[in-house]
Amino acid sequence: MNFDLTPEQDQLRDAVRALGRRYGHSYFVEKAKSGGHTTELWDEAGRLGYLGVNVPTEYGGGGGGLTELAIVCEELAAAGCPLLLLVVSPAIAATVINRHGTEEQRKRFLPGFADGSLKVVFAITEPDAGSNFHRLGTVARRDGDDWLLSGRKCYISGVDEAQYVLVVARTEDAASGKLKPALFLVPTDAAGLTRSKLDMEIVSPENQFLLYLDDVRLPADALVGGSLDAGLPALFAGLNPERITVAAMGVGTGRYAIERATDYTATRRVWGGRSIGAHQGVAHPLAHAAVQVELARLTIHKAATLYDAGRDLEAGVCGNMAKYAAGEAAALAVDTAVQALGGAGMTTEYGVATLLGAVRAGRIAPVSREMILNFVAQHVLGQEKSY
Ligand SMILES: Cc1cc2nc3c(=O)[nH]c(=O)nc-3n(C[C@H](O)[C@H](O)[C@H](O)COP(=O)(O)OP(=O)(O)OC[C@H]3O[C@@H](n4cnc5c(N)ncnc54)[C@H](O)[C@@H]3O)c2cc1C
Repeated sequence: MNFDLTPEQDQLRDAVRALGRRYGHSYFVEKAKSGGHTTELWDEAGRLGYLGVNVPTEYGGGGGGLTELAIVCEELAAAGCPLLLLVVSPAIAATVINRHGTEEQRKRFLPGFADGSLKVVFAITEPDAGSNFHRLGTVARRDGDDWLLSGRKCYISGVDEAQYVLVVARTEDAASGKLKPALFLVPTDAAGLTRSKLDMEIVSPENQFLLYLDDVRLPADALVGGSLDAGLPALFAGLNPERITVAAMGVGTGRYAIERATDYTATRRVWGGRSIGAHQGVAHPLAHAAVQVELARLTIHKAATLYDAGRDLEAGVCGNMAKYAAGEAAALAVDTAVQALGGAGMTTEYGVATLLGAVRAGRIAPVSREMILNFVAQHVLGQEKSY
């Protein structure tokens, strides 16, 4: 058992931390509140190779794994910059294309992921399906060599910043007549694809959208993997990276909040000599949150290690647990930090309450805490499926 990062991973952590701190939470909030995007930070991280750490070297990437990408997600979040786009583009989309794309798709897309110049967002959620992906209603039909996609998606993050949306649709299996999933790379400016921005109560530079696909015509090579049989494994390939990087962002956010709070409570004095952090009523909740964050962090480390060792099934169990643990720990840490800061906790200046919406959403998306508990109950505890 080894809890140490390699020297290269340690260097990556320090370098990403330094980059994140140069921008900081005030930059993130300023972009979010002005309707801007964190483009400067994204571009610089891309130039420095941090966005492509998990892309193979032959396509210009860093040749690392999910452990490295989780480090990038955690450290940027720990600097107050939890970038949702890291989850959808390098974690989900790059992994899906690397593992299940055709060689032509790898050559075409992976260099852009490697330097961050390509952003691909991910669209699975639908208004009438929600957590039940078996009910997806977005359908892909053949029309000659082309595909025609029709359907609706909701809460899709970052569409306005991306060149492509990786859309999960369904196709009819010629043999069985059953609908099976297929993934398509849809240009965000494709004819027939329209979007409307959702008003969300989250301070985030990334926006969420409703997407409408109205007979969006795509060439044959838009189908990931070039074959309908690639759909299901491609979809599953994105799940572990998604859960593990979201968890890493949650842990980074928790660390950020606890650091903000403890800096404050160690120096604020309202009862004469002692700091408010000397009072156990203030310190213990922060210590408790720090324990929860560290437990989640260890689970993420284990999940990423399993994933990078090719042990996908075990990584799936551990990644789900890590996502659950990190979601709860991040929400607890931010709420506890706000309380410890008192009135300052609710100000924009102290930069903690600005994360309340994001950590609350982290218990719902990309997979809700209830659906993870269902998964653990069924697959780990052997309980009957209830739905
Ligand atoms: C900020 C944000 C960003 C997002 N970004 C994206 C994105 O980029 N791409 C994308 O595809 N989606 C995205 N989503 C959507 C997200 O993945 C969904 O919101 C999530 O999967 C839950 O689906 P739902 O909202 O339809 O909830 P529902 O499925 O309607 O569930 C509502 C509630 O019921 C509970 N529930 C449902 N079924 C069960 C059950 N069987 N047992 C117990 N409880 C159950 C759920 O846990 C939840 O608490 C985003 C959402 C948010 C909030």
